[in-house]
Amino acid sequence: MGNITLTMVKPTAYKKGYAANILAKITDAGFRIQAMKTLRLSKAQAEKFYEVHIERPFYGELTEFMSSGPIVAAVLEKNNAVEDYRKLIGATNPKDAEEGTIRKLYASNIQENAVHGSDSDENAEIEASFFFAKNERFNNEGGLV
Ligand code: ATP
Ligand code: MG
Repeated sequence: MGNITLTMVKPTAYKKGYAANILAKITDAGFRIQAMKTLRLSKAQAEKFYEVHIERPFYGELTEFMSSGPIVAAVLEKNNAVEDYRKLIGATNPKDAEEGTIRKLYASNIQENAVHGSDSDENAEIEASFFFAKNERFNNEGGLV
């Protein structure tokens, strides 16, 4: 089994109907989906998820946005998942994202930037546990992870 990363298709990208195209790019790039769901975060849940950014000036706006509509959350498995996924999604600001990256293709602006990706193996596990119970994550044989 490879490493994992946690992704979210953010509200604007979901609303624009990009979720399936984004997921196709993800699986085409060799990631396997261990778990996936569509849900809407409450403001309190978004505040909890982004707690690390509490001091940043955009925290209020970001958590409003992330609770503004449905998202897709997924646990992705691949060797070197965190780093490879951040390469696939591109820079935080889509203006700086390389051609062909998910954010270049599907982001609206620096805040509504289509997808989230974990920034470390440790945070990937914390974020995966935020969205999924142990019995909601499956390995390639169909058993529990
Ligand atoms: P993510 O954690 O969502 O994968 P990231 O790691 O590229 O993104 P972070 O610095 O962790 O970027 O910021 C978290 C999120 O906060 C960004 O993805 C974006 O939605 C929002 N954000 C970051 N910088 C700004 C900003 N200057 N103004 C508004 N929103 C911002
Ligand atoms: Mg981040």
